[in-house]
Amino acid sequence: CGVIGIYGPGKDVARLAYFGLYALQHRGQESAGIAVGNSREIEFHKGMGLVTEAFNERKLEELKGHVAVGHVRYSTTGSSLLANAQPLIFRYSKGMMAVAHNGNLTNASEMRQNLALTGAVFQTTTDTEVIVNLLARYGQSSLEEALIKTMVDIKGSYSLIVMTENRMLALRDPHGVRPLCIGRLDDAYIIASESCALDTLGATFVRDVEPGEIVVVDGSGLTSIKALSQPRRAACIFEYIYFARPDSLIDGISVNRARRAMGRQLARECPIEADIVIGVPDSGTAAALGYAEESGVAFDQGLMKNRYVGRTFIQPTQEMRSQAVRLKLNAVAKAVEGKRVIMIDDSIVRGTTSGKIVQMLRQAGAKEVHMLVSSPPITQPCYYGIDTSVRKELVAATKTVEEVRQMIGADSLHYLSEEGLLAAMIGQNANVSRNTYCMACFNGEYPIEIPVGLDKYTME
Ligand code: 5GP
Ligand code: SF4
Ligand code: MG
Repeated sequence: CGVIGIYGPGKDVARLAYFGLYALQHRGQESAGIAVGNSREIEFHKGMGLVTEAFNERKLEELKGHVAVGHVRYSTTGSSLLANAQPLIFRYSKGMMAVAHNGNLTNASEMRQNLALTGAVFQTTTDTEVIVNLLARYGQSSLEEALIKTMVDIKGSYSLIVMTENRMLALRDPHGVRPLCIGRLDDAYIIASESCALDTLGATFVRDVEPGEIVVVDGSGLTSIKALSQPRRAACIFEYIYFARPDSLIDGISVNRARRAMGRQLARECPIEADIVIGVPDSGTAAALGYAEESGVAFDQGLMKNRYVGRTFIQPTQEMRSQAVRLKLNAVAKAVEGKRVIMIDDSIVRGTTSGKIVQMLRQAGAKEVHMLVSSPPITQPCYYGIDTSVRKELVAATKTVEEVRQMIGADSLHYLSEEGLLAAMIGQNANVSRNTYCMACFNGEYPIEIPVGLDKYTME
């Protein structure tokens, strides 16, 4: 998911939130919502689909105020409902509140049960409603105190923006799993999942929200509360590999440069005799450029992407997913004809895309197709908010590399090593180390306790 918050008296905060969400669209395409506070109350609009589908000029016009929070949602199967769209808006003892969440709580089931036993009721199936209930429950304290108490109770990943009728608060879980950053636009403050949203609004990047930090923005400016101490960092490395936009800067590292470095590392680990190297657009392009740089193999555009098609994994069924691949990508015959092609993608999840693309390249006349992946095999589910959840669908969880190669029909298949991935990240910033990142979907080392049993709530 993607979140954005704007505190900007005198500005059209709803419109800023709208354009901010537009820039964060890649983080979720299922629903979009904006809530605006005008000192007296909170008004909001939410809709299904893309930001442009959920909103129109009239809806934006209606949202007037000085503080706004917005959300774009992506979830796992079965819960693509307007009721689950965010921000969640509710009344509590002191007024109204709107909450937008990116992440996934790992103790949501437990917390829900505890809350339900003492009379709480739930309207959605999202873990975010647990946060809402806790905030309401602790509502007698100041909002800052309520947030700190809530942070003590909840486990997992959360980059959260909370808004009242007149204030904006933002916080990041103590592990810093999901990104969250602060920007300024004249006198306005902006908090966003990724810095690309700040750029889009013409705002300047100030800094990242620190893990365990609460940032409060109101009439007296920005104040910071160090709410929880950092256990260890566990920034999601998959944000750099795939999820975030390449023009974003997360925790001091450029996503684009990180991907390039992964591609260069891949070239060192898997040198292959070939005529051209191509990337699977858009997510594989930066790594392919890195591979070309390091190896000297010529980069070319061997695949074209229909720019009007969103991320294919959003489609709910396997059949629709396969169809969507052909809708989204096509081979450039003149580029690949008669060539030995290295094709680079950022990751293989289910193997659907990769299989189709290999086939496409062969049909277009490629002589050899070597598939290289700029991350290690994904063998474990993510419990912290990325949709690689259903283990049986993760092709690398049940198949060897050779079996995957056969399945996708490539001449050879190679993945970046775990050490290589880390080396690429460490090369970006001297302050990061093995312990900076969560890499659990690759190595099973979960930095935060994971849910017990099968009862898993929707991920935001
Ligand atoms: P596959 O070959 O597994 O069908 O698709 C791989 C493609 O899915 C890659 O291009 C990658 O960019 C994209 N992808 C990356 N992360 C995710 C994710 O979290 N969920 C899904 N379903 N697809 C992803
Ligand atoms: Fe990111 Fe993978 Fe960790 Fe999930 S398990 S937070 S996708 S690195
Ligand atoms: Mg991709």
